Amino acid sequence: MKEEKFILKGKRLEEIQDFCKSIGVEAFRAKQLYTGIYKNRYTSISQFTTFSKELIAKISENAEFPEIQLGRQLISKDGTRKFTFEVEPGKEIETVWIPTADEERKTICISSQVGCTLNCAFCATGLLEYKGNLHAWQILDQIIQVEKIVGDRATNIVFMGMGEPMHNYFSVMKAAHILHDKDAFGLGAKRITISTAGVVTGITRFIENKEPFNFAISLNHPNPNTRHTIMDVNVKHPLEKLLAVARKFTQDLDRMITFEYVLIPDVNMGRENADRLVKIARSVNKCKINVIPLNTDFTQWRRPTEDEVGEFVSYLRAKAGVPILNRQSPGRDINGACGMLALKGTRKEVEV
Ligand code: SAH
Repeated sequence: MKEEKFILKGKRLEEIQDFCKSIGVEAFRAKQLYTGIYKNRYTSISQFTTFSKELIAKISENAEFPEIQLGRQLISKDGTRKFTFEVEPGKEIETVWIPTADEERKTICISSQVGCTLNCAFCATGLLEYKGNLHAWQILDQIIQVEKIVGDRATNIVFMGMGEPMHNYFSVMKAAHILHDKDAFGLGAKRITISTAGVVTGITRFIENKEPFNFAISLNHPNPNTRHTIMDVNVKHPLEKLLAVARKFTQDLDRMITFEYVLIPDVNMGRENADRLVKIARSVNKCKINVIPLNTDFTQWRRPTEDEVGEFVSYLRAKAGVPILNRQSPGRDINGACGMLALKGTRKEVEV
């Protein structure tokens, strides 16, 4: 059987150094490969024009540059663009390009799994079959491919596409560090956000490793007795433990944590829930809350009206003592907004 080639993408510098050593290529070439792939976004070995023909031949014999394959692309009237990629035959994911109106911030929302290990009742990704974790190169290639298509570079990366990042911890953190490394993508740690539905073990590991990245918890329900009805993750990782680890995060790392809170009428809104949320905000203290009005209408719930959102937000702002942000949801018309990534092109398709 033919030996599998070394995949150059998604590797740390040390791994590329070991590879070079193993095929008898000088160590300094590893750094050139590393910066070529990530900093210059080269997509084939032929772009390394300073390499001799012999060197290129030797590397090509032993290594490859795979790419995820673009499927569909949808463009929203607000400038958001959603891409479907096939990462391996039969395994599709989605990635979203989200520029602000002034183009000052250009965010790429990336996926970490094919489908998701979790099954949040309000999220369309949960409807898909889970087909596995992405490798680090498949996580990074979403950025490389999207930037190539739009002809621009991202200023911010959010791990908020399909999947639960804490259930693919190793590859997610590896990709995040390559994004952060100044010799690679060179993005500041505060420009990289990792989000979890509340996998306590992963958050603990993140704290122990003193990871520098922004961190968000999708809280979504403030009641320990009912959170499990909309988030199955709460069965294994109950709210009390989640809040304890969130407090530990802010204390040990001395940093702010973000809570995401999807607003679902009759489920997690109303005075009682708002009061519970206020209590949580005050007990964690170093936090901010992003409220996101429910985006999808392929669940049994409706989207809250602007008045309902306004009332909930004003109440929190008056009582919680922490910043409350009402998150805009770009890309709703192309099913590209939070919770809408379900490999569907149009709303009609979703209903079929
Ligand atoms: N699994 C991780 C990463 C996905 S992030 C996590 O849950 O954090 C996706 C974000 O979109 C989460 O904050 C989630 O709560 C939110 N979301 C999911 N479904 C949504 C919906 N229908 N409307 C608005 N936001 C939604």
